[in-house]
Amino acid sequence: MNAVSLYAKATAGFDARVANTLAVLQRAAAEHPGKVVQATSLGAEDMVLTDLIARHHLPIAIGTLETGKLHAQTVALIGTIEQHYSLNVEVYRPVSETVVHFVREHGERAMYQSIELRKACCGMRKLEPLSRMLAERSAWVTGMRREQSNNRGTVEFSETDDKGRAKFNPLADWTWADVWHYIELHQVPYNPLHDEFMPSIGCEPCTRAIAVGEDFRAGRWWWEDEGAKECGLHVHEPEQTTAQVSMIGPA
Ligand code: SF4
Repeated sequence: MNAVSLYAKATAGFDARVANTLAVLQRAAAEHPGKVVQATSLGAEDMVLTDLIARHHLPIAIGTLETGKLHAQTVALIGTIEQHYSLNVEVYRPVSETVVHFVREHGERAMYQSIELRKACCGMRKLEPLSRMLAERSAWVTGMRREQSNNRGTVEFSETDDKGRAKFNPLADWTWADVWHYIELHQVPYNPLHDEFMPSIGCEPCTRAIAVGEDFRAGRWWWEDEGAKECGLHVHEPEQTTAQVSMIGPA
């Protein structure tokens, strides 16, 4: 049984939600010409957005963070997108010297030692590269949905991030069934790890399969309290580590 057969379901209002998502994407492109990027985590939601951007030839760049800790299946999806849609994907990686220094100091399993070290790892592998992705941009697009977690329950279709950039969340009101219904309808390529009960896919050391009945994001940073479960990309935090220079942002 794959993810499509498990989750895809046509529900009332689906066509209207797709139309609204397209309208939000068109608005992002129109209001920020040449200055807007979809920060894709390469998860199912982001594949829906990339498909809409490609299908409607919207002038929105596609960027992703290659943290150096992704599953091989996730990395492979970058090439799949480029081939399937004839699109260029901008790939942002952490600064190698920073990674080498951090690993030498704290080890490869630092993320399990404390929340501080886990956030520092996310800071250098995600937040700093994201800050480069967004440096020349005035807007970005994410695949965040209200249903994903309590922390995301109030996500708006558009908001302003800590740096004053416009942040568009065109799938804010989509359900998980919507996402997979769209993927089935349009034969959207997706990460095969979704077929292995991983609804939310991050880095390999920080992602596990979930069991029936578990929360959507239960497989992310499962050793931490619910309240800590964000990588800093999408949260406004009172204090940021040095590496967390400027961001709130994907995944
Ligand atoms: S998700 Fe895990 S491996 Fe990836 S950057 Fe964050 S702590 Fe590091």
